[in-house]
Amino acid sequence: MGGIPIEKALSALGNALNGLKNKIPFLKNGNEEATIIDGKKIAADIRLEIKAEVDKLKTKYGGKVPGLAVVIVGERKDSQTYVRMKRKACDEVGIHSFHSELPETISEEELIDVVKKYNENPDCHGILVQLPLPKHIDEEKVLGVISLEKDVDGFHPLNIGMLAMKGHEPLFMPCTPKGSIVLLERSGVELKGKNAVVVGRSNIVGMPASMMLNKKDCTVTVVHSRTKNPKEICRQADILIAAAGSAKMIKGDWIKKGAAVIDVGTNSVEDKSKKSGYALVGDVDFDEAKKRASFITPVPGGVGPMTIAMLLQNCLDGGKRAIEGTK
Ligand code: NAP
Repeated sequence: MGGIPIEKALSALGNALNGLKNKIPFLKNGNEEATIIDGKKIAADIRLEIKAEVDKLKTKYGGKVPGLAVVIVGERKDSQTYVRMKRKACDEVGIHSFHSELPETISEEELIDVVKKYNENPDCHGILVQLPLPKHIDEEKVLGVISLEKDVDGFHPLNIGMLAMKGHEPLFMPCTPKGSIVLLERSGVELKGKNAVVVGRSNIVGMPASMMLNKKDCTVTVVHSRTKNPKEICRQADILIAAAGSAKMIKGDWIKKGAAVIDVGTNSVEDKSKKSGYALVGDVDFDEAKKRASFITPVPGGVGPMTIAMLLQNCLDGGKRAIEGTK
């Protein structure tokens, strides 16, 4: 007799149910642990997609590719590592990178001149000034000089302003919060109409994350260091983004059952079992929270890899607008 073998039918049913569970978290049964959002895998997929787009541009426009200028001042080891990682990531996807390594003693005016030169360079579509800058330089002043069309970090006050305003879209959005939202979307988490809580209100993570969630039709509450009842507020969250920089401050009983939890926090804590003597942990107590959440990001391996992927995405978007003449 024809028809589908029973094993095949059961397997198809199982897959359909899993897909449905991802969309409707409360379908998970009480004892099930959260789905771990694999930021490394999602970021790697995005980087492959970007590479394919860069190749397409290159073929269509006679070898033209997006270009990113990375400006670093001084010799901080951590900044040098970040810059190296960003340049390597550009190489891998075919984005051209320019590099200015400037001495600690450079004046504010000289640094501004370097930025202005990149503003005028038609082969450069994104400018990134690695922070922090030395104390004698006003960071806001330097970032404010970056042309709006090349602000791939998304920190320019006008880009932030357009993110905040109804009816406007920024040219670029800050990479870490943007990566957090993309993780939710690629995991199939519905945002519209949900209660979202963001812990932290910094200019680079918390504040833009709350505005992005608002733009996605979430009802957003922001928790900060002066908030009176953070636990009660977090317990209302269908979507929780933690960006406080305080190791494991968010315990399991702060999490609503079935919530989707994105942990931006990256805190170094002593760990004698590690060769280095320390371990990286998030702002969320992962082992407790995974028993209540429906989705959760690990630290490391969650939001971290998305930051560079979103920087590449912003470079591609800026490059495309300029090369295709759509800016
Ligand atoms: P930040 O500038 O220090 O801001 C921290 C924010 O959290 C502030 O708004 C602060 O409130 C709030 N806060 C601090 N302690 C709190 C507490 N106990 N309860 C409630 N709110 C609290 O930090 P940031 O630059 O936004 O970074 C936040 C975390 O994300 C850090 O761990 C950082 O390492 C990590 N991070 C990760 C990535 C990545 O790529 N994965 C990128 C950027 C940052 P006030 O405003 O009242 O001071």
